[in-house]
Amino acid sequence: MSASSPRSPTFCRTFMSDVEPLFKKLCLVGLGLIGSSIARAARATSAVGQIAALDASPQVLARVRELAIADDASGDVASALNGADLVILCTPVGAIGEVARQIAPHLERGAVLSDVGSVKGSVIAQVAPHVPQGVHFIPAHPLAGTEYSGPEAGFATLFENRWCILTPPDAEGEAVEELAEFWKRLGAKVETMTSEHHDLALAVTSHLPHLIAFNIVGTAANLEQVTQSEVIKFSASGFRDFTRIAASDPTMWRDIFLANKGAVLDMLGRFDADLKSLQRMIETDDGQGLFDLFTRTRAIRRGIVEQGQDTAAPDFGRPHDERK
Ligand code: NAP
Repeated sequence: MSASSPRSPTFCRTFMSDVEPLFKKLCLVGLGLIGSSIARAARATSAVGQIAALDASPQVLARVRELAIADDASGDVASALNGADLVILCTPVGAIGEVARQIAPHLERGAVLSDVGSVKGSVIAQVAPHVPQGVHFIPAHPLAGTEYSGPEAGFATLFENRWCILTPPDAEGEAVEELAEFWKRLGAKVETMTSEHHDLALAVTSHLPHLIAFNIVGTAANLEQVTQSEVIKFSASGFRDFTRIAASDPTMWRDIFLANKGAVLDMLGRFDADLKSLQRMIETDDGQGLFDLFTRTRAIRRGIVEQGQDTAAPDFGRPHDERK
């Protein structure tokens, strides 16, 4: 989508200043990549009237004030939550239960409480016991991100044309609609499913690929016959793409694997069986088997590009200036 297309935050800032906010006040807890991107996008699209920021780190709050991406980043829990009708928890999954316990006494009746955690079953188990009566807890997961962290890493267009999955309890129809509208205003496409299904689907599409990337880059780094400098110098695009994923935030990914243990181990078992089958094809010179598999995997890539989830440009559009 171009910077001035009707749904982009640039367009929205210019032409949507008179659009009604969907929520009076948004309180974000955890102003890293995702939290700061929500702040930027919510302001650019006038999705909320006011934005308050809470974070465990005074340095992060100081940076949020410098970047001017929230109206209040004083760090005072009671004033940040005062009047907030939308509260989104954007901390690592491992910290989310404790955060919910701390903010619970300040949540206002009728408020929508949500999160962006990459695992839903564990987040629900940690947060739900602290949710006061009259507060609508709607777990969410925007499928958008980069390998960078912190408030500087965020940007307003991060969620454009990306999916945001909601895993609501049955009884929360109206609040689900309101939260879905909020994510759509930020440019996302919204889908609803159970937390169990989410955790299984994401184990295949996100958690397993990250685990494989961490493992491949770790194996290369441990190979004694190939020096570290050779790994960096000769990194062909295949390996280089794995290093991008393997550079993701260590805290976040530690928490994801521990929080989604069952589904990840299940998928790892299937992956292991498929790898053994590939190994057998190579050992037995089964060229047809290899060709058929690679033909199927190529079709999946085409489908992703056709659905607008990635660029069709060769090598992800990286510049290939031969003089360099
Ligand atoms: P991030 O850039 O590291 O930001 C997390 C922020 O939360 C940091 O500012 C951190 O402060 C703060 N924090 C940690 N513990 C806290 C606590 N107890 N109370 C208040 N603030 C606390 O991480 P992120 O990439 O934005 O990820 C945040 C959440 O989004 C995670 O649950 C992750 O699973 C989910 N998510 C991430 C992606 C992605 O690609 N990055 C995509 C979708 C969803 P410190 O820096 O001082 O620890």
